Amino acid sequence: MTYSRVAILDWSAAGKPARGKDSIWLALDGEMPENLPTRAQAEARLIALIEEALVAGDKLLLGADFAFGYPHGFADTVAGGPLHLWDWLADHHVDTDRNESNYREVAARLNALFPGEGPFWGNGRKIQIDGLPRLKPDLPANLLPNRTTEAAAASPGAKPKSVWQLAGAGAVGAQTLTGLPMLARLRRRFAGQLSVWPFEAPAQITLAEVYPSMLADAVRLAVAADPGMPPDAHQVRLLARALAGLDTQMRAELLDRQSLPHAAQHEGWILGAGQQTQLRAALSAHLTPPRLRNDCFAMPQGVAWVPVDTALAKLRDALHPVMGQERVKTHEAAGRVLAMPATARRSNPPRPNAAVDGYGFAHAATGSGPQRMPLVNGRAAAGQPFTGTVPQGHAIRILTGAILPAGVDTVVLEEDCATDGLHLVFDGPVKPRANTRRAGEDMEEGQMALPAGQVLRAPDLALLTALGIGAVDVRKPLRVGVLSTGDELVTDPAAPVAPHQIFDANRPMLLSLVQGWGHHPVDLGHMPDDTDAIRQALMRGAAQADVVLTSGGASAGDEDHVSRLLRTEGHLSSWRIAVKPGRPLALAMWQGVPVFGLPGNPVAALVCALIFARPALSLMAGSGWIAPAGFTVPAAFSKDKKAGRREYLRARLNDRGEAEVFVSEGSGRISGLSWASGLVELPDEAVQIRPGSPVRYIPYASFGL
Ligand code: AMP
Ligand code: MG
Repeated sequence: MTYSRVAILDWSAAGKPARGKDSIWLALDGEMPENLPTRAQAEARLIALIEEALVAGDKLLLGADFAFGYPHGFADTVAGGPLHLWDWLADHHVDTDRNESNYREVAARLNALFPGEGPFWGNGRKIQIDGLPRLKPDLPANLLPNRTTEAAAASPGAKPKSVWQLAGAGAVGAQTLTGLPMLARLRRRFAGQLSVWPFEAPAQITLAEVYPSMLADAVRLAVAADPGMPPDAHQVRLLARALAGLDTQMRAELLDRQSLPHAAQHEGWILGAGQQTQLRAALSAHLTPPRLRNDCFAMPQGVAWVPVDTALAKLRDALHPVMGQERVKTHEAAGRVLAMPATARRSNPPRPNAAVDGYGFAHAATGSGPQRMPLVNGRAAAGQPFTGTVPQGHAIRILTGAILPAGVDTVVLEEDCATDGLHLVFDGPVKPRANTRRAGEDMEEGQMALPAGQVLRAPDLALLTALGIGAVDVRKPLRVGVLSTGDELVTDPAAPVAPHQIFDANRPMLLSLVQGWGHHPVDLGHMPDDTDAIRQALMRGAAQADVVLTSGGASAGDEDHVSRLLRTEGHLSSWRIAVKPGRPLALAMWQGVPVFGLPGNPVAALVCALIFARPALSLMAGSGWIAPAGFTVPAAFSKDKKAGRREYLRARLNDRGEAEVFVSEGSGRISGLSWASGLVELPDEAVQIRPGSPVRYIPYASFGL
């Protein structure tokens, strides 16, 4: 039995009727959610919904976002099982139709059944409640802090809180104490037609615990696209959509109780915990990231010079990932950006195995001093398991990577023993489980292997493959257009040139940078300083690329057609950044596509690309904001720098590991870019550098170059 309709409930323990943020929301099959001001109204609505489903013959999955159980041991002690605990709570909890609940008193009463102050704690009210500590107490010895499902349901940026905590941001304890009594009443009312998963097999109406924050990254995108709707509402809607988006087989897998850890029978289980990837995939079909807003680069008027760090922070705020996603085979995913976390499908190692070549046996039969054991006939090797059982007191030949046969938990290194082919002799004692690898010691099935945003490198492909992950959800590659402007430029370095002409050095440099950063370069060519021509090129850029880098013509001078065009026909914000080398950086939106107007001078163009464009493009591509790793080295030069702007010097390390800088700071000296193997970054403040002074050196490699 699976389901044909989905309803997701976001519950609230609010003390008075409430709407909007932190109130009750209910979403049906991904439709616009309903907001319910009181728990009593929500209960009435759920009854109506269930009755409707029963009449229509729908199989309804009703997910609620609070715990259906407590850590192992609690329900048994209080009531003799998890569903009996539901009834106990229904019998003790009182709620009014004005949301006045006695759940704190209920918690105090439960605390009294256990030694010590807890387990429940947290009181968001001024008045003292006897038996309910305000601060986290020591947990009674026989109780655990968490349920098994909580770790499995965690995702980057979202981990379920402890059910013992009743107050504080994100606390779920109070929702559980107010929610379970309501569900217990539904269960009584619809007995025979309604079941509680995973304690019971699915029925026509199936209640299940859900954790909408499992989709936190999707929720963030949705909130950015539609900030008018509270995050709670987005959450329930997206989860309902994701569950409704699963195919029949996936629905069955989701509700398969056999595949759950044993603890689920006592503690409950969050639906989809460990299956986050599948849920996200079901959702991704509907998800296109929101576009950037036209005013995203706006800078307050009158700001004279913006420090580099402020400019970077502004840029980081202005941008977000803009690429949709696709699924690719793992072996074809090098360089791609994970759009969703990758979850281990299998433990590594899958079974306990031998870490060395040697002999295996049961540790229990060994002691100290000389040990002598008969060898069993046969051996265990990688890929060739020994299928029999090794009797206690016997040993078996075992090779690196072989699964430990039944009866073996410890291995001695072959160099540490002697054998005549029939017996094994070695010196005890040996440590239990010596020279073996525990199943899952590297990673456990269901664990997150790599987070969303990870750029997949060769070692990552090894990890994913070892964990049985054959395909991954990645972002589509960011297409970066590169355009050069200037009447003086000639594209082909082999072409004849007049004295007033120079070759377009920026375009090959920027295209190569973009490619090296893992994006998809789009060559938009070179345009003269002509408004119509540049307009044409930018239109092509908007059609073929997700972001455009231009160089030249970006200041406010007579010939600066790029900035003029962006100002009159796009949305331009000229950032005067306190940086050398660099001219004003033109940041604009052109037909929905961001344009970075880099300086024309190749030295300034490279520095601005490395410092500003690289992290911005990384963020848009889905791999997050990045800062280059630099390190402090002694200077091999002298310089007196004034306060007011940050400076980047073309630099390389000499054979004593000191930073030497290029002979000239002249921004026309392209040869210095090539001479260098990195940049020295001098702070915004005044500094006096003398040979030996510490300076920050950032190798080109740290800029992904
Ligand atoms: P602009 O930003 O257009 O005022 O150009 C500043 C300086 O950089 C001028 O000397 C230009 O000739 C030079 N320049 C502009 N674009 C390029 C390019 N693509 N390759 C080489 N030099 C350039
Ligand atoms: Mg120019």
